[in-house]
Amino acid sequence: MPHQQQHPHLDPRSPLVLETRDLPRRPGALHAVSRKVPAPKDLGLELIGVPQGAELDLQLRMESVSEGVLVSGTITSPLAGECGRCLRPISDTLDVPFQEFYAYQHSTTDETTDEDEVGRLQGDLIDLEPALRDAVVLSLAANPVCREDCPGLCPECGVPMDELPAGHTHEQVDPRWAALSQMKTSEE
Ligand SMILES: [Zn+2]
Ligand SMILES: [Zn+2]
Repeated sequence: MPHQQQHPHLDPRSPLVLETRDLPRRPGALHAVSRKVPAPKDLGLELIGVPQGAELDLQLRMESVSEGVLVSGTITSPLAGECGRCLRPISDTLDVPFQEFYAYQHSTTDETTDEDEVGRLQGDLIDLEPALRDAVVLSLAANPVCREDCPGLCPECGVPMDELPAGHTHEQVDPRWAALSQMKTSEE
């Protein structure tokens, strides 16, 4: 099995590795893959992503095509993050399409393209993780917001505007008036 020796690091039992041994190498042959797997760490961006260990729901199909295997379907999972304006927590659901072609080793595609252009089967195995990371990360907003019109934080006191009374301001008060208003308060 010379193929396996080239990539001894791919573990067929890993949740993000697909086994194609049972998929006939005949164009049109199909296999559905339905799995729920724990999310790997660092799946996302700085402000939003899939929490490590959260359930990634993969609904995919593997299809034999002439030069390899086309994997397509959808990835769903919970998302957690922070609003880029008010910094309050956000929870959302990720639902992204996935489509990636993996060339057979020694196919024409394999011999004529770079490994970072087109995915490769490694023996009978497909490593989903790199393309899955791309699909997830590209679907995320670099600057997520809790809602479109989130007013953000008060620039003076740093409290989310949503949690402050309407008309909240920090008017510059003349120190003499400030002293006076303090006296008034203590009189009451
Ligand atoms: Zn917000
Ligand atoms: Zn304020």
